[in-house]
Amino acid sequence: MDTKFINEVERYGADHFKACYDCGTCTAVCTLSEPGHSFPRYFVRLAKTGQKDEILRSRELWLCYACGDCSENCPRNADPAELIAALRRYTIASYEPTGLTKLIFKSNPLYILVTLVLAVIFALVLLSFHPQSDVSRWLFKYIDYETIHYTGIVAAVLMIFSLISGFFTSIKNYSPQKPMSKPWDALKKTLIEMGIFKRYQSCDTYEDSYWAGKPWIIKPWFLHFCIFWGFILLFTATAMDYLFKNPNIDVWWPTRIIGTIGGLLLMYGSTIVMIYRLLGPTKIYQSTKLADWVFLIFIWLTGFTGFWLEISIFAHDHTMLTYGILLFHVVCAVEMFLLFAFSKFAHALYRPIALYDYFRTKS
Ligand code: SF4
Ligand code: SF4
Repeated sequence: MDTKFINEVERYGADHFKACYDCGTCTAVCTLSEPGHSFPRYFVRLAKTGQKDEILRSRELWLCYACGDCSENCPRNADPAELIAALRRYTIASYEPTGLTKLIFKSNPLYILVTLVLAVIFALVLLSFHPQSDVSRWLFKYIDYETIHYTGIVAAVLMIFSLISGFFTSIKNYSPQKPMSKPWDALKKTLIEMGIFKRYQSCDTYEDSYWAGKPWIIKPWFLHFCIFWGFILLFTATAMDYLFKNPNIDVWWPTRIIGTIGGLLLMYGSTIVMIYRLLGPTKIYQSTKLADWVFLIFIWLTGFTGFWLEISIFAHDHTMLTYGILLFHVVCAVEMFLLFAFSKFAHALYRPIALYDYFRTKS
């Protein structure tokens, strides 16, 4: 028990959970809550009593899809969905061994500073690949070429080290003594869930859900689906271009088609989510934190600059503006990669591990 933990949770962004009076409504409305997994109420109790180890071992944190139905129906406005989001930030920061995530999640100015510094470093690294360009010649009169490269390597190594460490910590935390049961069956179910978000789709089946009866194309699960698959398709197209050294820019070329579909999905999903975060149709969108905005803005900028470049290539536009956009696009993409272990993005690693553990102990 650690009663001071309440203050710590507040610093990760949960401001209202102390108002909870344990009525259990949130658990009753959550379609993902099951006997033995009575979230989110369970987490309110853990946070109030400061049971940190229990929180860090809870795979249920990652099974929640942040639909917000629990917060909409809480009679005390304790916003349990906001608490779960804050505990996820706390867990990401605790799994990350350098301590950097702890600092940037608790301090908005530091978060912005780290993001900008990383962006500048990688813009410099990219420019150093073309030392004969006018900008590079001017720049490297003042900055040591080697220093930039080593700084970039250190940042990348730090991120990969943090990611691997977080991966093993999360595996170690879940059900360590339980024997594996039907691992292939659990893997299959995990992949299906990651592919179609069946559990997330069930969230708005609760009759009083704000999203019940709304068209599926604007529902949160579908927007999440678009962002997830947009990423996968764009990553696939980039990897194929790289592996096959494919310079073909024909619009019907397979990698172009995959990339265009991925870009459209990513742009659609991230644009609508940003509109929701601005308008705040439900409580979950009204409690947007800087970490949420950073994540969304990077996604959106990467998609937007990607389409700009595609149009520029077809139009044979080789102006300085196009090169500037190319640089900006690559910096955004690299920055998302580098911030993976230190940001909200890390849920893409921890959720599949939690789902796998859930299915293998359930089956
Ligand atoms: S609905 Fe609100 S008050 Fe009731 S248990 Fe959940 S968080 Fe607490
Ligand atoms: S946000 Fe949705 S999925 Fe998460 S605990 Fe609340 S009702 Fe359940």
